[in-house]
This record gives sequence, C-alpha cells and structure tokens, in this order.
Amino acid sequence: MALIVQKYGGTSVGTVERIKAVAEKIKRFRDRGDDVVVAVSAMSGETNRLTTLATEITDSIPPRELDVLLTTGEQVTIALLSMALNELGCDARSYTGSQVKILTDSTHNKARILNIEEHRMREDLKLGRVIVVAGFQGVDAEGHITTLGRGGSDTTAVALAAALKADECQIYTDVDGVYTTDPRVVPEAKRLDRITFEEMLEMASQGSKVLQIRSVEFAGKYNVPLRVLSSFEDGPGTLITYEEDEVEDALISGIAFNRDEAKLTVLGVPDQPGVAYQILGPIGENNIEVDMIVQNIGADGTTDFTFTVHCNDLQKAQSILENTAKALGAREVIGDDKVVKISLVGVGMRSHAGIASKMFETLAKEGINIRMISTSEIKVTVVVDEKYLELGVRALHTAFGLDSETA
Ligand code: ADP
Ligand code: ASP
Ligand code: MG
Repeated sequence: MALIVQKYGGTSVGTVERIKAVAEKIKRFRDRGDDVVVAVSAMSGETNRLTTLATEITDSIPPRELDVLLTTGEQVTIALLSMALNELGCDARSYTGSQVKILTDSTHNKARILNIEEHRMREDLKLGRVIVVAGFQGVDAEGHITTLGRGGSDTTAVALAAALKADECQIYTDVDGVYTTDPRVVPEAKRLDRITFEEMLEMASQGSKVLQIRSVEFAGKYNVPLRVLSSFEDGPGTLITYEEDEVEDALISGIAFNRDEAKLTVLGVPDQPGVAYQILGPIGENNIEVDMIVQNIGADGTTDFTFTVHCNDLQKAQSILENTAKALGAREVIGDDKVVKISLVGVGMRSHAGIASKMFETLAKEGINIRMISTSEIKVTVVVDEKYLELGVRALHTAFGLDSETA
C-alpha cells in the first residue's frame, strides 16, 4: 500500500464524462489499497474564459480580484470529482487551497507556497477518504486567496507530495509522458522513459510547458518521485529521475522552444563602463525579467546591446529603453516580437563536444539565420525568426537522431 498524489490537468477533467473516467481511475488505486490525494485543474479553457471576462471589465485587472475569480474554476472540478467518487462508493472530500491550508506568500497571480498543513489530510486518509484538493490556489497569512501562476496545479501536486512524503507524485495529462519535443509540433517525437531532473528543469525553463517550472524546482528541492502519464490510456509514462546514470546515453534528450520571447536592441551605445547596468537597471526596477543578453564588441567607440524579454513586456521595455537611449546618446532602439527561442537540452553535452556546431550547421542547411546564441553546461539556445520555428525544430529533431522509427 502506497501514498500517491495524483494531478489531473484541464483536458483530463474537461467534461463530466472525463471527470467520471478520472473517478474510475482513482477508484482502481483505492481498490488496490493505496491512499490517494488528488490535485485538480479547472476544466480546460475555463481559466482563459474567466481571464477574458475580467479583461472585458477593465484594462488594469486588480491582481487580488483576479485570484478570487480564477480560483472558482478549480472549485467546480473538485466538487464534481468528489461527487463522482462518492457515486462510485469511494469516500471522498474536496478542499479549496485555503481549507487545506496551502499557505503562500502574498504575491497575487504568482504566489509561492510556504507551508501545507497536514493534519486534516492525515485524518481523512486514516478514515479511508480520497482527498481532492483544488490545484493552482492557496491563501496568504492574512487570508487573501492567491494563485500560483498559470499551470500551477502541477506545483500544488508536487508540494502536496512533498508535505505528505508521498511514495510518488503522478501528473496525469493529455500526453502519455515527456517527449523529445512537443508532439503537437513534431509528430515523430518520442516518449522518454526517463529524464533527469536537471534536464526536465531546463526543458520546462526553455518553454516545454508539460510541467510548470516551479513544480520541477520543488520536486528537485524535496526529492519528490515524479512521473508524467496520460489520463486517457494506461502506460508507464516518464519518470523524472535524480540519477544521471539511469538515463540512456543520448547526446540530446530533448528540444524545447518558446514562442513568448521578444528581442530588444539598442544600437550605437557608447562603449564605456557601466552601460549594461544603465540599460538593464531600469528594466529590472520595472519588474521586467530579462532572459538572454548579448553585447557586441565595440567598434568606433560604440557597441550594440541586445536582450530578450517576455513578449508581454515588449512595449513597456521599449518605452523605458527609448528614455535610456536618449540619456546615453545611443542611436536607436529596435523591438522585435517575431522571434522564437529553440534549445537543445541533454546531460550528454557534458561529455560530448561539437553539439553547438552541429546545431548551427543543421540550421544553416535550412537557410535559418541565427539571431542570438547562448549556452550552458547542458543546453544550447538560439533565437531565430518566428517563421522558422517548426522547420528548425523538425530539422534538429532529425539531425540529432531523435525521430521515432514508428511514426
Ligand atoms: P494539463 O492541462 O494536463 O496541465 P498542459 O497543456 O499543461 O496539460 O501540458 C501538456 C501539453 O504539453 C501537451 O499536450 C503537449 O502539447 C505539451 N508539451 C510541450 N512540450 C512537451 C514535451 N516535451 N513532452 C510532452 N508534452 C509537451
Ligand atoms: N487552471 C490553471 C491554468 O489553466 C492552473 C492549471 O491548470 O494548472 O493555468
Ligand atoms: Mg499544465
């Protein structure tokens, strides 16, 4: 008998039929004698629908009220899933984040979990109940409702598993595991049996939204055994492992991409000490996160400075930069949101040279111009024009031998 935390995402609970199917699945674990704690998302599309309603009322949505609004989506699914379980003769109780309670900081819309109270859940488990917890939500010390950022139900599940020291945290979704790249873009993508925690963290950070980044960070911090599986069919899924020698000896494990990137360039910046700080200081002060940064070698006493931000921050960043450029005597500011980021990820890079050059060669053969490059120990990232996303990812997937033979 094991203690298992399961998370069901939006499509897995997208209709009443799906909710009934999930209840059947949970019941099978109970019949086997396992204790089960479940975190659920809102029905697919619901969080977007609610956000749209808010934008129809105001251009500046109060973050606190947005959290009150968005958390209703998960309150619907926990109640329905508990009803479906009870209907099958499986004792179950639903709880909102504040009932559990999942204590967070007060950063509305992207709060961090600080603590989870266990005693109520332990009592329910002792009574043989399935516990159904609303994903994505918590409560701060003053009792205000908070949310954990889009995709946050993954983090709820991992945090519950860490708090309860569960034997496994199972993330049920609409794909049967973590693939070499998004199977919606590359049908030849292969399911991985295992991926290292470090690789999963890079994949998520570079845009593979199959798991929320924070859920992977949390799992790593507390060593939570984590598995991604399909809620639609049975199968082994993908195990996130902490042992590097347990994974296949591949050069590259996966390819991640991110469409949300935007690029900003300041041309003709005086080449002198303190310029990077003068450019990026005001950006940081306005809470805009900077991702990649490239500064050219100076020529004629000036240099060009390029960096990327989330595309939602492009306009704000560009108007800040216009002011900085004037103060610095720079020539021009150019903003471009028609760019994407493609990253190769794999622990195999540590022991193999030439991965970056093979990546550049592959893109060159397709006539794809590389706008920016950055590397780390287990990743190579390039920024290219948006129109080349699919061509680039597919070409790299083939070049690095990731295509499945059966597709
Ligand atoms: P859920 O609603 O269950 O949380 P998500 O839509 O958040 O589901 O995550 C699952 C989706 O992630 C898949 O449908 C797939 O298109 C996408 N995805 C992106 N990269 C990958 C990858 N490397 N492996 C598997 N799925 C991926
Ligand atoms: N319902 C939230 C979202 O759509 C949280 C989640 O599904 O994980 O982002
Ligand atoms: Mg998700």
